[in-house]
Amino acid sequence: MIDDVFCKIVQGQIRADVVYQDEDVWAIKDINPQAPIHILIIPTKHFTSLEDFMDGNNDVLLGKLMAVAHKVAHQLGVADDGYRLIMNEGENGGKLVPHLHIHFLGGKKLGPKMVR
Ligand code: AMP
Repeated sequence: MIDDVFCKIVQGQIRADVVYQDEDVWAIKDINPQAPIHILIIPTKHFTSLEDFMDGNNDVLLGKLMAVAHKVAHQLGVADDGYRLIMNEGENGGKLVPHLHIHFLGGKKLGPKMVR
């Protein structure tokens, strides 16, 4: 069994603040928020990376992750104000948790810099 923190969350071993959940995708509040709204959109099934994800036939699931981002934007009332989606990959991308996820950031006007 894979035992990264997001697998543990979807398996109910670690608590999370869940804002959306279905059989394929979870959206949880980031434990260390970088913006007033910081949500992580996570496939329930374990994929370590985008590389791993794309090795399978996961186009439909990729679309579903985006559909959940759209849903969360409406649910949290930021669809009109806007938000930012980010996916970190690998060492240079600064990825910490080895389970594919998309960061959803919003709740304020984010700066023009995406890279520091
Ligand atoms: P990264 O792998 O760098 O794209 O980011 C992983 C993110 O997961 C970070 O923003 C962490 O704050 C967040 N994180 C780590 N553990 C938890 C947890 N138990 N619940 C919610 N978010 C978490």
